[in-house]
Order: sequence, then C-alpha cells, then structure tokens
Amino acid sequence: MERVVVVGASLAGLRAAETLRTEGFDGEVIVVGAEVHRPYDRPPLSKKLLAGEWEPERIHLRQPDSFDDLDVEWRLGVVAAGLEADSGVLHLTDGTDVEFDGCIIATGASCRRLPDQGRHAHVHELRTLDDSLRLRAELAEGNHHVVVIGAGFIGLEVAATAKQLGNEVTVLEGAPAPLIRGLGAEMGTAIGAMHVARGVDVRCDVDVERLDEAGVLLSDGELVESDVVVVGIGVVPNTAWLDGSGLEIRDGVVCDETLNARRADGELRPGVYAAGDVLRWPNALFGEEMRVEHWTNAAEQGAAAAKNLLAVSRGEEPVPYAPVPFFWSDQFDVRVQFLGRASADDEVVVATGAVEDDKFLALYRNGDRLHGALGVNAPRWVMKMRGTLAAGASWDEALEVAATFE
Ligand SMILES: Cc1cc2nc3c(=O)[nH]c(=O)nc-3n(C[C@H](O)[C@H](O)[C@H](O)COP(=O)(O)OP(=O)(O)OC[C@H]3O[C@@H](n4cnc5c(N)ncnc54)[C@H](O)[C@@H]3O)c2cc1C
Repeated sequence: MERVVVVGASLAGLRAAETLRTEGFDGEVIVVGAEVHRPYDRPPLSKKLLAGEWEPERIHLRQPDSFDDLDVEWRLGVVAAGLEADSGVLHLTDGTDVEFDGCIIATGASCRRLPDQGRHAHVHELRTLDDSLRLRAELAEGNHHVVVIGAGFIGLEVAATAKQLGNEVTVLEGAPAPLIRGLGAEMGTAIGAMHVARGVDVRCDVDVERLDEAGVLLSDGELVESDVVVVGIGVVPNTAWLDGSGLEIRDGVVCDETLNARRADGELRPGVYAAGDVLRWPNALFGEEMRVEHWTNAAEQGAAAAKNLLAVSRGEEPVPYAPVPFFWSDQFDVRVQFLGRASADDEVVVATGAVEDDKFLALYRNGDRLHGALGVNAPRWVMKMRGTLAAGASWDEALEVAATFE
C-alpha cells in the first residue's frame, strides 16, 4: 500500500491519519477536508466557545506547529465529489483525481434543516466553527428571545448557554419529552426539568409549522415570537458524495464489524474503511447495528479503521470494533454522561443518588442484561459501570455493583 487518502479532516479523519503514522505506515497520506480550518474540536462550539469564554485558538485538535510532524498532505477547503470504489479513484471539486490503495471515509454529518431555513438571517444551525461564531455574535449581548427548535443534546446545550448569557430561551420539541432518542422519555423528562428549574421554557409535543420573520409559527396558529432561532433537529450523515460509488449506503456508510466498507452487493471492498458519525456498523458487544454521533466514538473509530486497514494490508487479522459507546453533555452546571445504549423498551431504575438532587446514576435494563448507564453529575459512578457493561453483566450483577457506590 503506497497511498492512503482520508476524506474528512475532523476528529475521525485526524485520528486516522495520526494512527497511520504511529503504526508505522511510511507511504503517502492525503487528507481532504471541505472546511478551510485545520481539524478542531466541536463540543466547545455549543459550550465554552459559544459562551465567549474560549476563543477559536483554544479548540485545535492538534497544536498548529505539530501538524507538519505528521507528514500528511492536507487538502483543505476541497470537497470530495465522488468515489469510484472498485477502481480506487477519488474525484475532488478542484478538478483533480486521487488514485489510492487505501481510503478512510470520515465525512461526518451535517445538520438536518427545516424547509426555507436558509431564507431567514436570524435562523441558525450549529455544526461548524463558523456557525458557532455567527451565533455567538448574536447571543453575546443578551436580552434576545431565543427559540431553540429541537430538545436534543445540541439544542439543550445551546439553550443553557443562551440562558446563561442573559437571553430569554424557549425550547420547542415535537416529541413528548426532551432527549428521547438518547436517553428515553423518563430520563429525558428529568433533564428537561433541570432546564425549567433554571429558567428555560421547555415546551414538548409542539408541532412547528414553519419559520417566520417574527419567530416560529406552530401548527395550531400560535406564533412564538423570537429574534434568534436555532434549529437543532438532528444530523444526517454526509454520504451524498458517495452516490454511484458502488458502496452500500443506508443512513451512513455500511461497514462490517472491522469497519471495512461494504459494496452495494454486500461484499466487502478491501482497502476502504470508514470512521465517525458517517459510519454504520454491527457492534458485536451489543449485538446491534449502530451509527454513533459522539466524540469518543469518532476518535476511537478513526484509530481503529487505520489500524485495521494497515493490518489487512500486511496480511494480519483485523480486530472487530466493539466498544461500550460513551458520550457526555454539559448543560448549565449539569454534566450528563451515558455509557452503552438506551432503547424505548428499556426499564430505567435510579440505582444511586436522587433525581431531585441533580446527582444520580440510572441503569437501563433490556431483558436480563444491563444495556446502559446514565450519570448526572456522577462521573465516578459512571466510569465504574464501564467494566460492568463491557463484561456483558446481567441486570442483577449491575445492581449489585451500583449498590456499593457511595
Ligand atoms: C456543537 C456540537 C457539540 C458537540 N458536543 C459533544 C459533546 O459534548 N459530547 C460528545 O460526545 N459529542 C459531542 N459532539 C459530537 C462530536 O463532535 C462528533 O461526534 C464528532 O465531531 C464527529 O467527528 P467526525 O470526524 O466523524 O465528523 P465531523 O466532525 O462531522 O467532521 C466531518 C468533516 O468532514 C468534512 N466533509 C464532509 N463532507 C465532505 C466531503 N465530501 N469532502 C471533504 N470533506 C467533507 C466536513 O466538512 C467535516 O469537517 C458535538 C457536536 C457538535 C456539532
């Protein structure tokens, strides 16, 4: 293998490039990235950077003077327009083609949009550094009425930051509770209540009809007045550029358990791997196919994809990627952490601490197994559950472990 191209210059792509080098690959590495910025960290975009506490220099994923050490050719501000998986050619919008022996797809995800969203100057989305700086310029002086559409993690983080900057904040959610997809209805309701206690107006079961110059119009005719609107209704994986590539795309790039991409006919395409928010793969530890939209997964998958690409090229066995998924979210003074998975039919039990104290550990039960663990302001308890989840613990074993926490 002489040339590896990494498509997407963010967390997963950077970790892939770094790992190729640390694992001893001495061929050519080209990283193509649509944004003009060197890889930067997204979590602060809705937190410290949006709040004005940090400046962009603080969120580099690698110190600026250490990029050259990687011996990587960066093609930034260049978009991958198409891939011919079978012949190993990547087409770029600058008119050039890159022939490759190995390819790691790490193009992440983009914000889902409402119809006509682009027509209104006061309507924002939040995925990139530029999005965050634009929104921060509006929120900084306070005294706005901010409406956040969507009570997912990004929406609630923006709501908390906007409120802390002295704005009046309303969150509009179509589902019966916030965070249903990530945490289920019961714990989503608990997190929503923490926002209400801190002065955010959280309205669930609300049907947004359309965006309006004066705010957000609901389907029952009510106009929720607002001069800043943030749309946080989830993301879609960036796979449009792979149309016609010959790879299987199904809400993400479909891979096997070692992160090797599948062709549309279901066969593996040797040498093509994927990592991060764009990837869907079967996690053997949970017996589920997953697409995970969180930081730790993107970082670890970037490294795992690079290792497996190299291993196979050297005739070694690739290693299945089967982690316990993890994410965190900071909202006001509340740190939410989650390990594992949450499904709608999971039973949820608060095992340690108390919801009303804003400090607790909740366990998610699926059948006879521990499925997930949610910590609110309880980092030590959450981390102690990691090994329990990784070991595939039964529900009773998990309760016994949690009973020892103080
Ligand atoms: C505001 C915000 C806050 C977050 N907070 C948290 C948090 O607190 N905790 C947590 O666990 N996770 C958080 N996340 C999620 C985490 O940041 C993502 O999971 C992570 O960034 C995914 O990394 P990635 O490299 O897979 O994709 P991305 O970061 O989406 O990067 C993909 C890159 O590929 C580029 N690209 C796309 N298409 C092309 C193309 N055709 N050609 C070339 N380049 C292309 C994109 O421009 C982008 O730069 C947050 C995300 C956001 C947006």
